[in-house]
Amino acid sequence: KVQEGPFDIEIQHLVFQYEENSRKVLDDVSLMVPQGEKLAILGRSGSGKSTLASLIRGDLTPTNGNVQLAGIATEQIGDNISEYIGVIQQVPYLFHTTILNNLRIGNEQADVAQVWEVLERVGLKQLAESLPDGLNTMVDEAGLRFSGGERHRIALARILLKDTPIVLLDEPTVGLDPITEQALIDTFFEQLKEKTIIWITHHLQGIEKMQRVVFIEDGQLEMSGSPLEL
Ligand code: ATP
Ligand code: MG
Repeated sequence: KVQEGPFDIEIQHLVFQYEENSRKVLDDVSLMVPQGEKLAILGRSGSGKSTLASLIRGDLTPTNGNVQLAGIATEQIGDNISEYIGVIQQVPYLFHTTILNNLRIGNEQADVAQVWEVLERVGLKQLAESLPDGLNTMVDEAGLRFSGGERHRIALARILLKDTPIVLLDEPTVGLDPITEQALIDTFFEQLKEKTIIWITHHLQGIEKMQRVVFIEDGQLEMSGSPLEL
């Protein structure tokens, strides 16, 4: 278990293949992400971005090399890693239970006052107030009651309640219209400004907010710099 920070992520000579003798999706990737950095990882579809995200989360085991969080290999940290790294995916998953339970995933101790405070921060307070049974309103599995942008705000609220030092955003705004996307990006960065942000994306909208951008191509990190240099 990770005892204390700083919660730097250190990737060293990482190689990853899904199967023996298959293509190396990642081939000797090294990257240091100090706690608090705002990093964008850019790359085309299929370039290995989500694979890298899974390796950082310890959901996949490196074929070679390693990923460490605060000096400990992520695959050794096991499920505890969710205390340190929160994830927002392209399609945030909602569970067939109340909206309150959906928000408290990862922090069942959060009290209702805390939940409302976070709902206000992510811009969902009004919506939550308008629900027929308030926070006890049931969510269906597909989350059909909520728009794509709202589902992402729910995912953000979860992470704020969990208060992880690191947040991994895996193309969280794909498929949204540009105005919704920009509003969501603004909320993400405003609310996560104290945290490490690793933001995986395949387009440029919003990257000016990041401190550093790295490109992933042919299994390797090709270029790295501030958004202004690129
Ligand atoms: P996108 O922008 O479309 O999300 P990505 O950069 O996230 O793409 P990955 O999902 O990491 O790309 O996939 C990288 C490569 O690994 C692709 O060639 C993909 O087909 C392959 N791949 C991904 N997941 C698996 C898997 N579970 N088993 C075998 N190959 C996989
Ligand atoms: Mg992906």
